[in-house]
Amino acid sequence: MRWEKVMGLEVHLQLATQSKIFSSSSTTFGADPNNHTNPLDMALPGTLPVLNHEAVTKAIIFGLGVGAEIGKISRFDRKNYFYPDLPKGYQISQFFEPIVKEGVFDVPMPDGSIFPVRILRAHLEEDAGKSVHDAIPDQTGIDLNRAGTPLLEVVTEPDFRTADQVVAYLKALHALVTYLGISDGNMAEGSMRCDVNLSLRLEGEEEYGIRTELKNINSFRFIERAIYVEAERQQDILESGGEVTQETRLFDPDADETRSMRSKEVANDYRYFPDPDLLPVVVDDTTIERIRAELPELPAVKRARFTDQLGLSQYDASLLTQDRATAEFFEAVSARCNNPKSAANWILGDVSANLNKSGTTLNESPLVAETLADLIIRIDDGTLSSKMAKTVFDALWDGSSDVDEIIEQKGLKQVSDTGALETIVNDLIANNPAQVEQYRAADEGKQKKLIGFFVGQAMKASKGQANPQMLNQLLKEKLS
Ligand code: ADP
Ligand code: MG
Repeated sequence: MRWEKVMGLEVHLQLATQSKIFSSSSTTFGADPNNHTNPLDMALPGTLPVLNHEAVTKAIIFGLGVGAEIGKISRFDRKNYFYPDLPKGYQISQFFEPIVKEGVFDVPMPDGSIFPVRILRAHLEEDAGKSVHDAIPDQTGIDLNRAGTPLLEVVTEPDFRTADQVVAYLKALHALVTYLGISDGNMAEGSMRCDVNLSLRLEGEEEYGIRTELKNINSFRFIERAIYVEAERQQDILESGGEVTQETRLFDPDADETRSMRSKEVANDYRYFPDPDLLPVVVDDTTIERIRAELPELPAVKRARFTDQLGLSQYDASLLTQDRATAEFFEAVSARCNNPKSAANWILGDVSANLNKSGTTLNESPLVAETLADLIIRIDDGTLSSKMAKTVFDALWDGSSDVDEIIEQKGLKQVSDTGALETIVNDLIANNPAQVEQYRAADEGKQKKLIGFFVGQAMKASKGQANPQMLNQLLKEKLS
């Protein structure tokens, strides 16, 4: 029996606004507990919510970014439940009429293919506060800094069949929202949180199985692992004739298992009803078109331009468009040196290797686009061999900024001057008559091996600075 995984995702994106969705408190991360709170966040009597215009605009930007229909009239509802980090006793969310309706989001897969994911809806809501268990001995503290932070919850259809598809979707979503500037997408700070709904069915079957929901997994590696572990667990149950319980589960990376958190609640449990404190949100066509006109170039469009106009492979194009900073860096380098392929190779090769090693981002690195372009120009005009280019690159990474100055200082110029090379080659031939005779008597296959001796000697004579292509050419001519 072959089991197929069926997965649908719910991603909570923290929208990058300065103040909260219904109050003027700051949304800045990392403040001391309860420093970013005001009477509304604390649910004091007599306070009323005021909708943050910017949160609505950013939700619309997202909807347009995934080609979804925008809800012309959306509403806020109360989702009622008790928890210490939710002093009002309800969360304000959009249940009946979300701001973003159906759309299709094209996800680039590592093999260059496109995986279309159906977006079911995206709705605005407020975040809850946080229970803090380790600040006060034997007590739990409540930090309301996060309460009221604007979230956009993006819900997909159950279109995913593999963990690879899930990870590719999350990466593409991350790229999209950071391009659009609507969220910083920082997973470690909780700006992007992912719930995976997972069920199994026998391959070829139409109907979906009973699902569990894996809550708040906060890294790509854990998501892959959680999916694997939960699918194994469900498979064991199904193969031993049991039934999966619909519930919310937690992935514990240390124990490498998922654990039941609570039985699955249904909508009725929450007694959703329209929040009487907030008016419906009405968005007219003029507003939608104004926002559409201001959208930046989306990753998908950039990707297509990189392959069609700049001749990059699908693979390189999708790697370079994974974040906006890298894409813009690539464009700046490639425009200046006029060699997109080489620019891509350097950025995806040495540059990203160095960034990984030092654990920094492109913006923090000492390398600027202009100097990397200058380096490529000096390779393309024959001044630098690829080996010398590496030396220059290392110097740039260490903080030098002028390519020609580094070449000058380190005496790295390749000898591409025919006259100088000819002198070296002539001397070599005159001083090694035996090797020359051996070369001339050999067949073509053997000559290819014997020429190595001359190349080596000539390189030595030029202190490693001879242009290898020119040297080879010249040696072949003079020896035959
Ligand atoms: P709820 O209201 O209980 O959260 P939804 O119908 O809104 O449920 O679906 C939540 C998520 O679960 C969606 O992403 C959806 O694609 C996914 N989902 C629904 N049914 C299944 C299933 N049988 N297997 C896997 N995922 C599912
Ligand atoms: Mg849900």
